[in-house]
Amino acid sequence: MSSSSSSLPLQTLKIGIVGFGTFGQFLAKTMIKQGHTTRATSRTDYSQLCHQLDVPFFRDVVPFLEADNDVILICTSILSLSEVLNSMPLHRLKRQTLFVDVLSVKEHPRNVLLQVLPENMDVLCTHPMFGPESGKNGWKDLPLVYEKVRVRNETRCSSFLHIFESEGCRMVEMSCEEHDKVAARSQFLSHSIGRILAEMGIESTSMNTKSFETLVKLKESATNDSFDLFSGLFIHNRFAQQELMNLEQSFEKVKQRLLKKMSERQSLSS
Ligand code: NAP
Repeated sequence: MSSSSSSLPLQTLKIGIVGFGTFGQFLAKTMIKQGHTTRATSRTDYSQLCHQLDVPFFRDVVPFLEADNDVILICTSILSLSEVLNSMPLHRLKRQTLFVDVLSVKEHPRNVLLQVLPENMDVLCTHPMFGPESGKNGWKDLPLVYEKVRVRNETRCSSFLHIFESEGCRMVEMSCEEHDKVAARSQFLSHSIGRILAEMGIESTSMNTKSFETLVKLKESATNDSFDLFSGLFIHNRFAQQELMNLEQSFEKVKQRLLKKMSERQSLSS
């Protein structure tokens, strides 16, 4: 792990966003505030919203690719990444570009980007460990995990990372593999427990303990994210299945301990 800070000069970037859903819009607002130029393309027509934000919206991906982008920022769902990238006529790119993804899993986009992109394109894999809710009052001290997968133009890459550094993010350099290992045991686990609590229908009560309040918040934050996102964390992180099994086994162990204790007490009293 290390900081991305460097003494390289910084440049104002032209950033093309692919996937202008919740998270793409959230990131765009800070990039615009910092003076970078953004443009977007997406499956859904966001022309009206983009007009309000003063972000050019491209319904057609060809002029989007031919626009003068320093960075192409991939903000699509985990599940649609391959389909989206494979449907793009990447040979229409006019110049050497930095591709950045923000997916919540990292080995999968790393592999797909290396597979589909022309060799002369740079690749930076990132995961901002926050979203529109946790980052609504600023990004200070929130982690930005990244791996410079194939970076030749260091100035452009540093300028992109500086977007997060200058907002006060904690910059965490880590391999995509290590990210997925840690995320399966942290982010995927908390999403899974949040979804289980939602399945149980837990609600705030008039006698909440602090711990129960934490559970209600966990349920709310897990269900605020799309089910596509949650299932992407499972399907495209090779470490997630083991953690789901660990959760199941641990649940069973705790249950067995309780049942054992109960039967010991019953046999004592009889
Ligand atoms: P999401 O449900 O993971 O992704 C929604 C985006 O994917 C939208 O832009 C949507 O396009 C696009 N999309 C979905 N299915 C598609 C398909 N079949 N073809 C083309 N595009 C498709 O929700 P999100 O919260 O906006 O997340 C976007 C990305 O950011 C994900 O990879 C997620 O892992 C990552 N991320 C999210 C958060 C967060 O807090 N939300 C935090 C860190 C990273 P349209 O809108 O045009 O339909």
